[in-house]
Amino acid sequence: MKYDVIVVGAGHAGCEAASAAARMGSKTLLITMNMQTIGQMSCNPAMGGVAKGQIVREIDALGGFSGIISDETAIQFRMLNRSKGPAMWSPRVQSDRWRFAEQWRLTLEQIENLHFIQSTVDAVTTDASGITGVILQNGVSVEGHSVVLTSGTFLNGVMHIGERQMTGGRSSEGSAKGITGCLNTLGFESGRMKTGTPPRLDGRSLDYSKFEEQKGDEKPGKFSFTDTKPLTKQRSCWISHTSEEVHDTLRASFDRSPLFNGAIQSSGPRYCPSIEDKINRFRR
Ligand SMILES: Cc1cc2nc3c(=O)[nH]c(=O)nc-3n(C[C@H](O)[C@H](O)[C@H](O)COP(=O)(O)OP(=O)(O)OC[C@H]3O[C@@H](n4cnc5c(N)ncnc54)[C@H](O)[C@@H]3O)c2cc1C
Repeated sequence: MKYDVIVVGAGHAGCEAASAAARMGSKTLLITMNMQTIGQMSCNPAMGGVAKGQIVREIDALGGFSGIISDETAIQFRMLNRSKGPAMWSPRVQSDRWRFAEQWRLTLEQIENLHFIQSTVDAVTTDASGITGVILQNGVSVEGHSVVLTSGTFLNGVMHIGERQMTGGRSSEGSAKGITGCLNTLGFESGRMKTGTPPRLDGRSLDYSKFEEQKGDEKPGKFSFTDTKPLTKQRSCWISHTSEEVHDTLRASFDRSPLFNGAIQSSGPRYCPSIEDKINRFRR
């Protein structure tokens, strides 16, 4: 197997990278751990928001799909920061998580030149001239002129839930173990960054009368400059606030929380080299 471009991981970044490469005529392979989780929204099922909405629009202007798929699967649209000047406005949609992932997969499957493999990439291969491909978990080698790693939170991922730590890339999904060691051998330095997420609640168990309703915009906009349609029917968000009592409970247990007791920091990056630094090390 020989490809112009190999993309590793089918999250937001990998889906865009693979579709862009294939639509520009490169023979492209998208390798991902699980074909059922292509375009899976890891955290809140939202696209855009402060400092991110404009990126989705820029991707759209460049011909990417994130804005289109966000519009097609949106259940709410809000322009955030409207009380400030237009430079601060930030579009955001809440999407239907399942529809979003489904739409990405359907979109990718329409693209010529784009092939898929469900597997985990264990290593990248190189020779004196640079990258030459990847090795899959089952030992199969795939040759590639370029390799794009878009592996999100999965490389050597560790999850902290309360006082317990377990390896994993995302809830119920394993981490990818081989690539980090391989990149380290090539001279890259690795570290671990942190992300956090609120608990998922079963909507059927909530008393919505205790929440503050946040409706979508009266005249909803959209992300894409293409002919996607703005929403005609929207779902609301529901806001709740913590109380002093909750804060006291939290304060009483900070020493047991990985956010405050050093469990996360101890595995964090010691040194974050610049991109130029990394490339120079790789060349050397
Ligand atoms: C619980 C949680 C909460 C988060 N909260 C936020 C948030 O609030 N805001 C925010 O901006 N971001 C948040 N994130 C980060 C989130 O991961 C990114 O925003 C976004 O999903 C990154 O997209 P991505 O395409 O880079 O990677 P991901 O969406 O993580 O996708 C990576 C893909 O690569 C695949 N993969 C990884 N390694 C390999 C391999 N070796 N071989 C084959 N396939 C591989 C995975 O299966 C996955 O499909 C959160 C993440 C998690 C897990």
